[in-house]
Amino acid sequence: MARKLERYSLFIGGKWSPPLSGRYLPSYEPTSGEPWYELPDADSADVNLAVEAARSALRDPAWRRLTQTARGKLVHRLGSLIGAQVDRLAETETRDNGKLLREMRAQVAYLPDVYAYFAGIADKFHGEVVPINKPDMLNYTVREPIGVVAIIVPWNSPLLLMSSVLAPCLAIGNTVVVKPSEHTSASALEFAGLVEQAGFPPGVVNIVTGYGESTGEALSAHPGVDKIAFTGGTETGRRVAANAATHLAPCAMELGGKSPHVVLEDADPARAANGIVAGVFAAGGQTCVAGSRCFLHEKIYDDVLERLIARAKRVRIGPPSDPETELGPLALKAQLEKVQAYVAYGREDGAELVCGGTQPSDPGLRSGWYFEPTIFTGVENHMRIARDEIFGPVVSVMSFNDESALVEQANDTRYGLAAGVWTQDIDRAMRFARDIDAGTIWVNTYRTSSFMSPVGGFKESGYGKHNGFEAIREYSRLKSVVIDYSGQTQDPFVMRIK
Ligand code: NDP
Repeated sequence: MARKLERYSLFIGGKWSPPLSGRYLPSYEPTSGEPWYELPDADSADVNLAVEAARSALRDPAWRRLTQTARGKLVHRLGSLIGAQVDRLAETETRDNGKLLREMRAQVAYLPDVYAYFAGIADKFHGEVVPINKPDMLNYTVREPIGVVAIIVPWNSPLLLMSSVLAPCLAIGNTVVVKPSEHTSASALEFAGLVEQAGFPPGVVNIVTGYGESTGEALSAHPGVDKIAFTGGTETGRRVAANAATHLAPCAMELGGKSPHVVLEDADPARAANGIVAGVFAAGGQTCVAGSRCFLHEKIYDDVLERLIARAKRVRIGPPSDPETELGPLALKAQLEKVQAYVAYGREDGAELVCGGTQPSDPGLRSGWYFEPTIFTGVENHMRIARDEIFGPVVSVMSFNDESALVEQANDTRYGLAAGVWTQDIDRAMRFARDIDAGTIWVNTYRTSSFMSPVGGFKESGYGKHNGFEAIREYSRLKSVVIDYSGQTQDPFVMRIK
């Protein structure tokens, strides 16, 4: 007999409700491929209700008239409530996306600081007085909430990516409708319970779940949405931006990447090899910033490659809840199939597979979506494995001997999210940071992140910024107020430019 799965509800207007359609979707565990809960399949009618709830919360004096300090306290309280649930939320995320429990625990444990940071900003951002060149006039600016923000997040780091938008949005006084991935909705729905507990007025935070192409589509096309914060793939981002354009809603787009990771000949080879592992095998390569194109200077090529292969072969693959595991399964069956397809393309295009390229042979891992750390050499920049985002543990290794040709090659991609360089030479590090077209540059480190440090891609990796004061600018709007206190009547037919 089929096991009865736990069923979640939608969180709309401060209430838990079933989807109007009555339909639910299963969510699968990557370690076994088995379903483990059901999420509501919200259709456009549910999305309407969520957007209406968010719009009416914007007008609700309980939210609108709340002082910035009181708003900050609510945001802070929400962060503290997350802090009290780290284990439960992290376990939920690991079960849903298969990422290491110790990584998900670290991510969730980091969130109270994210909320505390933005809570602290809530009563510290403000406009300014502009000394305009007109006597007897005052011009000041005000930073206000934009309105209803739709937050659409992928499955790789659900609560972290949601919170990097949600915390600044709430600190400023926006209201939100969140749409998590259909593959990892549990943690966002658990999180909704904490929003309730924290005491936010109903409708300030709403969570709708379901398929991207229906629920996500309805949300991104909804005219009641004032801004869209989208994190996901570039093709989906293009579609979301087109939907938003129909009602001219601005977007912040955090999209894909194909980031260059460079080792110069003066780098410490052991640290550099470790950095490459962190850049592309951590999280199974399912990170937007994965350093999936690796350029090794020819003088250090053999040394670093040998270390990289040796370390990749030692990576402990296993269940993500095991503290010894270094590489868990991929989050989705479709993701596993995509990685397998790209390994085949790599071979077809003439690259040499020197490590991995297959699922692990351990019979204990057969039912999960596991894949070995995979290294290709002899890669050329035109090959599909060097051009497309694979979103798996696959690195394309190339060699170089000329710094300016390297910069050209590193920039020869439609993406511009991140880049890393390993060197002891500060001049070369500075030149690299200046010349690479990417939103984040790491020197002698990779995949380091802070809620204070702005992130966001260039080119087809998107636009807009997360983190720090940039996020406050991103999710607020600037109003300019001009006051004439001269008491004079002006010529009505001449514009006041003097
Ligand atoms: P997708 O673009 O498929 O999905 C992202 C989100 O969009 C999901 O919630 C998805 O829902 C939803 N969605 C799908 N179709 C639509 C639609 N037509 N309208 C509105 N929403 C829709 O990305 P993945 O889930 O595959 O995530 C991986 C991608 O995310 C990678 O390309 C990665 O680089 C990028 N990413 C970028 C980050 C950054 O900060 N730059 C950070 C992390 C990931 P559903 O899942 O239910 O289909």
